Amino acid sequence: MADIATNVARVRARIAEAAARGGRRPEDVLLVAVTKTVGVDRIRDAVACGLRVFGENRVQEAREKVREVDGVSWHLVGSLQRNKVREALRLFDLIHSVDSLPLAEEISRRASAASGRPAEVLIQVNISGEPQKHGVAPEAVGELLARAIRLPGLRIRGLMGIAPIVPRAEDARPFFRRLRDLRDRLRDALPEAQLEHLSMGMTDDFEVAVEEGSTMVRIGRALFT
Ligand SMILES: *Cc1c(COP(=O)(O)O)cnc(C)c1O
Repeated sequence: MADIATNVARVRARIAEAAARGGRRPEDVLLVAVTKTVGVDRIRDAVACGLRVFGENRVQEAREKVREVDGVSWHLVGSLQRNKVREALRLFDLIHSVDSLPLAEEISRRASAASGRPAEVLIQVNISGEPQKHGVAPEAVGELLARAIRLPGLRIRGLMGIAPIVPRAEDARPFFRRLRDLRDRLRDALPEAQLEHLSMGMTDDFEVAVEEGSTMVRIGRALFT
């Protein structure tokens, strides 16, 4: 547990320094602790260190952890298949990975049927342009958003992106900047969409992402190894 406590303190300090460099407040950056491959005991240690928001990339793997760890919030950061939507809505408070209209429609339908409360989601954008990566192409986000904001069971809170693997964190900056610019333009074009969030930044590049306006960093290795 000592190691996790040290890691949490270090990551929080690095977020605070990056926020200051970007002229931002550290409390405007949510730390999402990504726990794929991390067991329930170490997640409980992380809770004891003050972490309250956890991210998983698969419904299957999250099921037991959500049941076993109380009093925290869970986010789905990995891609979601349509046949898992119902369970995902039961497990997660925010889905970072909506990347098609059929998926958005299914989430809206299921959320309306289950609770009448709209599901909170982000649209995942393929900022690296690598064809094997998930996410909507940047030039297609506007159209998806314009359609998806009409769905009654969905609240789109922002955009999510994953930078490509690059030799130096600094090289990820243009990708984060483009995602922020895209969000700013969409917010101007569609004021009824509430695009306040930018989920960007992982262990290797989160400081650059925070400097560029990230409001949610998704961090695994820097906390758990
Ligand atoms: C694993 C994962 C992370 C965390 O990655 P680290 O490099 O371990 O910080 C963030 N986002 C997604 C979508 C992931 O799958």
